Amino acid sequence: MKTHFIPVADPSRQYFDYAEAFQAAAAHVLEGGRYILGREVNVFEAAFARYIGVRYGVAVNSGTDALIVALKALGIGAGDEVITVSHTAVATVAAIELVGAVPVLVDIQPDTRCLNPDLLSAALSERTKALLPVHLYGQPADMAVIMAFAKDHHLWVIEDCAQAHGASVAGRKVGSFGDLACFSFYPTKNLGAFGDGGAVLTDQPKLAEQLRLVREYGWHERYISEIPGMNTRLDELQAAFLNLKLGLLTEENQKRREIAYHYLSRLEGSQFGTPVMAEGTEHAMHLFVIETDHRDKLQEYLSQNGVGTAIHYPVPIHLQPAYLGRLRGSDSLPVTERLAKRILSLPMYPQLSIEDVDRVCDLLLQFARSD
Ligand SMILES: *Cc1c(COP(=O)(O)O)cnc(C)c1O
Repeated sequence: MKTHFIPVADPSRQYFDYAEAFQAAAAHVLEGGRYILGREVNVFEAAFARYIGVRYGVAVNSGTDALIVALKALGIGAGDEVITVSHTAVATVAAIELVGAVPVLVDIQPDTRCLNPDLLSAALSERTKALLPVHLYGQPADMAVIMAFAKDHHLWVIEDCAQAHGASVAGRKVGSFGDLACFSFYPTKNLGAFGDGGAVLTDQPKLAEQLRLVREYGWHERYISEIPGMNTRLDELQAAFLNLKLGLLTEENQKRREIAYHYLSRLEGSQFGTPVMAEGTEHAMHLFVIETDHRDKLQEYLSQNGVGTAIHYPVPIHLQPAYLGRLRGSDSLPVTERLAKRILSLPMYPQLSIEDVDRVCDLLLQFARSD
């Protein structure tokens, strides 16, 4: 019997489950005649900020733009240094350079795979303006230590929450710890639009005002630029979809965690490294990333047996052609470099059935035995 293919992510499944509601939302916007920064965006900004636990949300065109707008709103630019990680989506580092600032890289913790706060002191300089931790794969970074360090050294903290919608530490959602928090609504993210989208959240009214100015040409009043700005608006259609999807997020994250626990129970005691569910933290399980010495062979084996996987990310940023040899900190990232060769993202999405998880696990254990 031919078995079906199991993809690594499957964003259209959610559409088919709620097709009528999405189509009605689209028709409502299309017939309403307002397509940019209207009611749907306002409703979404307020609802998403409330969900995370802060007062202000400013929706933008992508997660990358969210990072750029956040950095600009803090006045970070030429010559300023921002400390972040190399084991992340390229957007994190690209955004820092796009505002003219200088990324400084530190290594990650082998268990959380997030920024190692013990390495911050060595990376600090007189030009350091901000810390930019990434809650990678949905795992919260060590925010208690990172926030304490930032306070001691008078640094801004921007959280990259693009993979961590709904993750929490001691009941408090990530995105509510730093001065600013950046989210992406790329279709495969835990909260994803049917296109591009992003948001910056903050609890500080002055920063919220700056974010709004930067988002649209520095306009407080239309056609009068108070500061030099840009255009990175979220459109009404995507905001309408996001308003519907936000209502599904808590349940979907719960489903992701159930899938994760099933993977963990099946893979316990095997040769595969699995994600930690750190004490007191709730993982958003954006990606379920295992570690193995035989990554490429395993990926090939799963592919031949109808299971899609991905590598997030195959080459650390400091080793990619655009950045090679020119980012400070590049020579001291052994944990990052080792991890990049060992990681494999398994299928993970809320609609993934337990039977499919079992099929993936059977293949993994079979591979381990034949190894
Ligand atoms: C997806 C992602 C981004 C960028 O978001 P886009 O919406 O694709 O621009 C930034 N940081 C991380 C960690 C991401 O995963």
